[in-house]
Amino acid sequence: MKITHIEHIGIAVKNLQESIEFYEKVLNLKCYKIEEVEDQKVKTAFFQVGQTKIELLESTSPDGPIGKFIEKKGEGIHHLAFAVEGLEKSLEFVSSKGVQLIDSKPRLGAEGLNIAFLHPKSTYGVLTEFCEKPSNTEN
Ligand code: ZN
Repeated sequence: MKITHIEHIGIAVKNLQESIEFYEKVLNLKCYKIEEVEDQKVKTAFFQVGQTKIELLESTSPDGPIGKFIEKKGEGIHHLAFAVEGLEKSLEFVSSKGVQLIDSKPRLGAEGLNIAFLHPKSTYGVLTEFCEKPSNTEN
C-alpha cells in the first residue's frame, strides 16, 4: 500500500460557473478543464495547485451523488483523493484491514483515471478516493 500524494480534493458546489469565477478571479488559479462524468451525474472543473488538483463538482441531476450531498450537508469539501501505486492491490489491502469499500473494483473517473471510493464510515467521516493513472495499472 503506497500513497504518493494527494491527487485532488473534490468540492461540491451548487453553481459551477460561479465557483469557477471565485477560483479564477479571487484565488487567481486557472481552470484548465471542464468535464462531465455522466455516470456520476456531475460536471467538474479542474485547477492545478502544485501536485494536487482542486476538482469542483456540480450535480447535473438532483438525484446524483453530489446533488444528494449538497441537499444533506450543503456545499463544501466532498472527498479527498489519494494517488496510489497499484489501485487493485491497495483496495484489497484496505479491505483486508476491515475498510468498507464503495467500489470493490476500479472504475473510470474524470481525467481518464482509474478510481475507487472507500466508505466514509470506515475513514472517520472523510469520503476517500484512491486513483491511479491507467498506464500504471497492474494486470
Ligand atoms: Zn475525485
